[in-house]
Amino acid sequence: MRLLLTNDDGVGAPGLAALYEHVRDLGEVTIVAPDTERSAVGHAITLSDPLRVSTWLHPGGANAYAVSGTPADCVKIAVRAIMKSPPDIVLSGINQGANLGTNVLYSGTVSAATEAAMLGIPAAAFSLADRHHDDFAPAAAFARRLAGEIHRRGLPRGVSLNVNVPPLAGDRIRGVAVTRQGRLRVLEWFDRRVDPRDNTYYWMAGENTLDGAPDGSGIDDAAVREGLISVTPIRYDLTAGEELERIGNWDLGDGTFPPPSVSK
Ligand code: MN
Repeated sequence: MRLLLTNDDGVGAPGLAALYEHVRDLGEVTIVAPDTERSAVGHAITLSDPLRVSTWLHPGGANAYAVSGTPADCVKIAVRAIMKSPPDIVLSGINQGANLGTNVLYSGTVSAATEAAMLGIPAAAFSLADRHHDDFAPAAAFARRLAGEIHRRGLPRGVSLNVNVPPLAGDRIRGVAVTRQGRLRVLEWFDRRVDPRDNTYYWMAGENTLDGAPDGSGIDDAAVREGLISVTPIRYDLTAGEELERIGNWDLGDGTFPPPSVSK
């Protein structure tokens, strides 16, 4: 198996090192990750600047590259330029912090997996659902197991897996749930501050909140709160298919408009 590892916390992040240590013997592993933290850049790509690629002296001896771009850039450049042939599987993470509900849209970690899916490569994104918990080993052990299953069974084209692991010791995790993406979102506020030159600036902060009542079981954030590893199959086709007919019945005309009459 040929594996590509990436993340959005940067090539030196501990979650990526733990992932590497747990999957390194599954096959030939290449790491291509951002040279600095690129959390919450979503699916951004770099168009106006060049991408600089440097070899990264990974402490575990991995074949690793640092890229001056986003997670989606890393997957693209790994597949198109760095690796001799495309990987069999892409694993992204392990992110420091949850990627649940609407936060998935902001996530660089998840977008790296989505980018792989767009290139036709099976992929999964892994997040440790706590910003401060530092034991990545249970999440990395699960990543290894899931990578094997993905390799054996494959994934439908366009589908990738978003995995969130509760911040618990390995023997305290209560199981694995295959879930739907829920409605968890960040309720943000802006800290108003003053810099040493008396200019006002703002810094966004926030905390996770639910839009309305809890969705109940089978939802990503509920599973993690229950001590379960959440595995959500996701796709990048954003079409609201159930709305096609209703909006098709709107009075939208035939799309032609007469040119404005020119008065002399
Ligand atoms: Mn991150």
